[in-house]
Order: sequence, then C-alpha cells, then structure tokens
Amino acid sequence: MDREAYSGKLFIISGPSGAGKGTICKRLIEETNVELSVSMTTRSPRPGEEEGKSYFFTTMEDFQKEIEAGGLLEYASVYGNYYGTPKQKVVEKLRAGTDIVLEIDIQGALNVKEVYPQGIFIFILPPSMAELRKRITGRGSESEDAINLRLSQTLKEVSYIDKYDYCVVNGDLDEAVARVKAIVMAEHSRVSQSIYQLIEKYKEEV
Ligand code: ADP
Ligand code: 5GP
Repeated sequence: MDREAYSGKLFIISGPSGAGKGTICKRLIEETNVELSVSMTTRSPRPGEEEGKSYFFTTMEDFQKEIEAGGLLEYASVYGNYYGTPKQKVVEKLRAGTDIVLEIDIQGALNVKEVYPQGIFIFILPPSMAELRKRITGRGSESEDAINLRLSQTLKEVSYIDKYDYCVVNGDLDEAVARVKAIVMAEHSRVSQSIYQLIEKYKEEV
C-alpha cells in the first residue's frame, strides 16, 4: 500500500476470538459512516453467514492466486484457515474519504501496521476469561476442541496489546460501542491537513 495521505481513516480492530469484535463492528457500521471491509477466507460458511457480506468464501487455490496477484493488503493463517483483506476496495474507499474498519487477527494487524502505519489500531478485550468462554460457547459455532484452542491463544494474543493505539474492554456492549465510536470521533479531531486549509480560509476573511 503506498503512503499517500488518504482522507478516509483505516481502523483495525482485533482481539481474542469471542471478545465481541464482530458484534461491535456490526454496531459501528450500523450507527456511523464507517464501512466494513469484507475479508476473503478459506473457511466454510457458518449457518447464517452470507457470501460477500460476512466473507468472500473461497478455495485455498484461489486464495493462493490472490496472494500471488498482490491483491491482498494482508493475510494470515488463523486456526487452520486463511483469511485476507482485499486491497483494491480498501484503497479506493480511503481515497474517496470513506472510513474503513478491518476486523482481523493480530498477525494480520501487525502486517497492516508495516504497510500502513497511519492506521488506527484498536484491541477489544473480554471482561474476564470466564465470560470469554461463555461467549464462545454461547455462539455455538465451534466444537469443544476449537473453543479450547481459541481460549489457549488468548494470553499469547493479549501480549501484543502494546502494538495497539487503543484498548476497549467489552463488558457492557453499549459502553464498548460508545468507546469505539468515541475513538473514531477523536481521530477525526486530530490536527490535520484539512484544519490547515480551514485556517487558510480564515485568513481570506480577515
Ligand atoms: P468475536 O467477533 O470477537 O469472535 P463475537 O462478536 O462473535 O466475537 O461475540 C461472541 C459472542 O459474544 C456472540 O454470541 C455475541 O453475541 C456475544 N457478545 C458480544 N459482546 C457481548 C457483550 N458485551 N455482552 C454479552 N455478550 C456479548
Ligand atoms: P472467524 O472464523 O471467527 O470469522 O474469524 C477467525 C479470526 O480471523 C478472527 O480473529 C478474525 O478477526 C480473523 N480474520 C477475519 N478476517 C480476517 C482477515 O481478512 N485477515 C486476518 N488477518 N484475519 C482475519
């Protein structure tokens, strides 16, 4: 990804499986102008997941072709499946001034940081391990073994928190959503090129 200054902002949300990233992102895109980047994955669809909405479901062979064609902003192997962010759409949207959120794993987030350090990195934490287990179990989409694998990864994952700009504990959902929205607002209040342009306009008026 080139380093041109895009007017849209790129938010990257990660955190342990079951912490509530998907739930928070869904609310964020419903309640703000931020748009979600739909990832590509080699994993099978879960009940209720829609092609092109939840993910672009693909084969390993086609995923490999996409990597070779340079079409992915980042990709990673997570729990035995490949996941990646299609690059072109993200770049087009950012260039057009649209904010984008990526809901991706930590390896992927670190890869984005390498190519796009201007991104805003947000880590979602569960209020406790017991609550995390309850949420993953309650989602009902993983086997007992898959749940244990995801939980065992959590402590390793949280050790990367210092690579992130913000951290939100998802205890009460409304509060967590409000905090993520506040981060989006705060990032739009940074002193930036558009503010200098406004100040230039003041000069014309005095
Ligand atoms: P992730 O995307 O991080 O893997 P999900 O968004 O799928 O996590 O959430 C895991 C489960 O926890 C879902 O069943 C979701 O409805 C539930 N959940 C998410 N946030 C909360 C919350 N703040 N309080 C209670 N349950 C929650
Ligand atoms: P799930 O299978 O539960 O939908 O996702 C498993 C993990 O893959 C989650 O941590 C999710 O954030 C991550 N993930 C989803 N899409 C992408 C992506 O495009 N790139 C990377 N690196 N991780 C992704």
